[in-house]
Amino acid sequence: MKRWASSVIALSLFGSSPMVLAAQPHVHGAGTLQLVLEGSNLNVELLLPAMDVVGFEHAPRTAKHQEAVKTAVALLKDSRKALELPAAAQCAIAPGKVESALLETRQDHDHHEHSEEEAHADFEVAYRFDCRHPESLKSLKVTLFQHFPRLEKLEVQSVTPIGPKSQQLVPGQDTIQLD
Ligand SMILES: [Zn+2]
Repeated sequence: MKRWASSVIALSLFGSSPMVLAAQPHVHGAGTLQLVLEGSNLNVELLLPAMDVVGFEHAPRTAKHQEAVKTAVALLKDSRKALELPAAAQCAIAPGKVESALLETRQDHDHHEHSEEEAHADFEVAYRFDCRHPESLKSLKVTLFQHFPRLEKLEVQSVTPIGPKSQQLVPGQDTIQLD
C-alpha cells in the first residue's frame, strides 16, 4: 500500500502534462507553470484558471465578456507581460500560443446554461524561446501577478540541466530560481 501511494505521488509530481492537469478540477487563485530548458530551447507552459484571468469560466455571453477574453489573450500572447528573462541570455521570443474553452465559439451554449455554470475552464499558454546564452538563465521573474490580481499562487515545475525542481511563487516572491 505504501509503495503504491508513493508511486502515485511521484507520478503527479513528474509525470503530469498540462492536458492531465486541465482534466482535474482546479483551485481558483492557483495556477501552474511548467518550464523545460534543453540546450538553447526554453519552453514554458502555463495553466491558469479562467476565473483568475477574466473573472468567469463560462462561454462569453456579453460584449463585455468578449472584450475581457480578447484583452487577456493579447496580454498572454506577449511573453514579456508574463516573464522577464535575463538580458544576458539573449533569448529570441516567439509569440505565445493561447488556448481556452472560452475561445471556442459555440452557438448552442444558451441551452446548456446550467451545466456551464458548474464547469471549470482554464487558459493554457505555451511560450517558446531560443536562447543564445542559456547558461545565463539563472533566474526568471514572473510578472503575471501584476496583471492578474486574482492569481494568488503559481506552482512551478522546472526541468533544467541541473535536474527537476519544484517551487511555489506568490505575489512579492515571484522569481523562479534555475541555479
Ligand atoms: Zn474554475
